[in-house]
Formats: sequence, C-alpha cells, structure tokens
Amino acid sequence: MFIPKNLSVNEKNHLVIGGCDTVDLAKEYGTPLYVMDEEHIRTAMRAYKNSLNSFYSGNGLILYASKALSTMYMYKIASEEGLGADVVSGGELYTALKSGFDSEKIYFHGNNKTYDELEFAIGENVGRIVADNARELDIVNEICEKKGKTAKVLFRIKPGVDAHTHEFISTGQIDSKFGVAIENGEAFEIVKYAKSLKNLEIAGLHCHIGSQIFSLEPFKLAAKIMIEFAEKIKNELGVEISELNLGGGFGIKYIESDTPPEYEKYIEEVSKVIKTECAERNIKMPFILMEPGRSLVGDAGITLYTAGTVKDIKNVRKYVSVDGGMGDNPRYILYGAEYDAAIANRANETADEVVTICGKCCESGDIIIKDAKMPKINSGDIVAVMSTGAYNYSMASNYNRLCRPAMVFVKNGKASLKVKRETYEDLIKNDIL
Ligand SMILES: *Cc1c(COP(=O)(O)O)cnc(C)c1O
Repeated sequence: MFIPKNLSVNEKNHLVIGGCDTVDLAKEYGTPLYVMDEEHIRTAMRAYKNSLNSFYSGNGLILYASKALSTMYMYKIASEEGLGADVVSGGELYTALKSGFDSEKIYFHGNNKTYDELEFAIGENVGRIVADNARELDIVNEICEKKGKTAKVLFRIKPGVDAHTHEFISTGQIDSKFGVAIENGEAFEIVKYAKSLKNLEIAGLHCHIGSQIFSLEPFKLAAKIMIEFAEKIKNELGVEISELNLGGGFGIKYIESDTPPEYEKYIEEVSKVIKTECAERNIKMPFILMEPGRSLVGDAGITLYTAGTVKDIKNVRKYVSVDGGMGDNPRYILYGAEYDAAIANRANETADEVVTICGKCCESGDIIIKDAKMPKINSGDIVAVMSTGAYNYSMASNYNRLCRPAMVFVKNGKASLKVKRETYEDLIKNDIL
C-alpha cells in the first residue's frame, strides 16, 4: 500500500490530507468526493518556477496544462502562483477567462480547433495560438484580417521521439494526429507557409512528446531536435524563433514501483541541452515554456468512496464495490491505469487481502484497482484512492446517469467546496421532453 508523502494518519487511525480528517470530509460532503491538497499544488508550481529561475535565469514561463483538472478555482491558483495556462478547447478557455485569468498568458492548443473556438480565442486576445496545421493557419489569418488583429503563433511539431509510455498517451512520433513532423518536411513547409500570411506573427515552436514519462532522455532529445530545427528555419527561411515550448508529460507516482524524476532535475538537464545547442548553432536562447499538467495536480488529489457490496467469489476473486467508478475515474478502463488505495477510517491496518475495487457502472471493465493489496474492507468503510488529482474529474462522465462528485480543496485543516456535487436536476437540465 502506497500513501503519498503529503498524507498522514491521525490518532483516530484516520487518513489526513491538508490537515483534514478524511472521514470527517466524507461525512460532511458525502462520497464519492474529490479532495485536493492546495498547498501541495502550490508547492509543485513553485518548484517548477524556482528551477526555471535557477537553471534558465527565469527566462521562461510555466504553463499549467489545464486539461488535467480544469475548474475555475484551479485557474485561480495557477494565476496567483504566476503561471500561464494551456487550454485545448473553447470550454477550457471560457472557464479560464471566467476565473479572471489573464488572456495574454493563455496558450491555445488542439489538433482541430473549430472556427468558432479560434474566433473566440482571438477575440479575447489569447497570448498564443499553437497552430497544429496549415488549415488552421488559414482560419487564424482570416479571422485576424476580419478583426484587424495579429495573432502570435507557435507550431506544434512532432520531433519524432519515442517517449516510452502508453501508446494512447504518447504523441511525439510521426504516426500521431497532433502537429506536423520534421522528418517528412511538413514542419518546414508549415513555417514557410506561415511566413506568407500577413496577419500572423511567428513566435516559436512547440512539442509535447507524451505523458506520464519517467525518463529524462526523451525530453533532452526532443529539446535538441527542436533547436536543430530552429537552426534550419533560421538559415533557410530567415525565421528566428523567440519561444520554445517543450510541452508537459512529467510522470508522477501512482503506485509504489513508480519512480518519477524530480522536475528540478528535468529542468536542469533540459536547460543544459538548450544552452549547449544554442551556443553551438549560434541561435539566440529562446524564452522557454513548460506545460506540466499531471505533475502539478495528480498526486495532490485523492478520491473518497464508500464501500458497499463485498462479493467474495471463492477461488475466483473478491470484489469490493464503491459508490463511484469509471464515471469519476475512467483511467483504468481507458488505459489500464494503476492506482493504490487505503481505508480512510482504519488507515494503518496491515494489508493482508487481495481485492478488486470496482465501481457501480454497468461495465465489467468498471474497475478502479484490480488486485489491490488492502486490509479487509467492510461495507461502510471509506476507501481513499491515491493520486487522482489529474485526469479524473476532467475526464468524468455521467454514464449511467451518475452525478459527478463534489470537489473540495483542503489547506491548513480547512476544507472549501470548489465544485458542487451534481444533482438529478443537473442531469436533466438539457433534456427536452
Ligand atoms: C496534455 C498536454 C500537456 C500536459 O501533459 P501532462 O502529462 O499532464 O503533464 C501539456 N501540453 C500539451 C500540448 C498537452 O496536450
């Protein structure tokens, strides 16, 4: 059983997060409940920023990749910590703006931004459009022409790096729907084409090689390839980039055997690569951007459930059903993601059983943890699943018409409700009889 460092156990043998007793939280707010440790998020944001200051003279900006957890309060935290944000849809952009986020610090991503989304983004003066393809450049150019504006663009480049992660979350290789590849000349062509469009200003290059990556090598290699490409477009097109966005993808610890590197180390190593490559190639050191999502919020969050049906099928498997499931955490059914859990109300009992913790949805794949080593779970126990801060709420659905859980942020022993639990009325609010 793995309990993250920011959690502890109190004298009642209850699990504690952000100074709050999780059993009390479950009682007060009900279950399933997402609980986010606010201080842990802020500390992670500061660690990234401080490393950028130490290893790259602060010549850059950390962007919160908000698809990991897009709520108004999260944008507020990112803004207060001096971060920018990366958004990938009109909906994320809207949420960020409604929270009061400075539009100049928003980077708009996506492989199929619609005309309406781009019009919205340009109308709101978002800082950068990260252009995925030539069709999009045409649309951006046309909208800017109409509005009498100039858009600053970055290009989404596939550096051709294999990030050694799950196939569905690895994006830097040529066979990917995101961006344009260097190896077949598409990347060069798109920069050349953008140069011919008069309402665009070329700001720089972007790559994002995947997610939940533990090794530093693919990041270093991607940075090197991007600088080489910057040199090529400088020499052959006379285009000098001022910004290099290296994406996100830093892994976190979900289970005991996960060993993510420290991001300080990542920023140190990648900064070194950029400095060396720029010096060798006579390229101006670019302003750099990094876009962590998972590593800012993932291990700051836990989900509390109440155990219900316990089904011990002799010689087969013991199922413990909780009051949520794939609706609030679809990562097992999507990628076979692994998690660890504890019993919140008996937090330091020895784990001596192997059980499968499953949800209440009508799918056999509706599992949270297969073969979890747990103390004996009884009906009514509060089960705390670790490291659910990223890609849980943001991927949640209403499958089986389950209401999406509430979310509280905890800090210094105080809990504050930041996303309300959905109600049955919410479920039918768009239905027409
Ligand atoms: C998803 C994504 C990120 C964040 O990835 P994490 O693995 O959560 O750090 C950053 N940039 C882009 C373009 C993305 O698509």
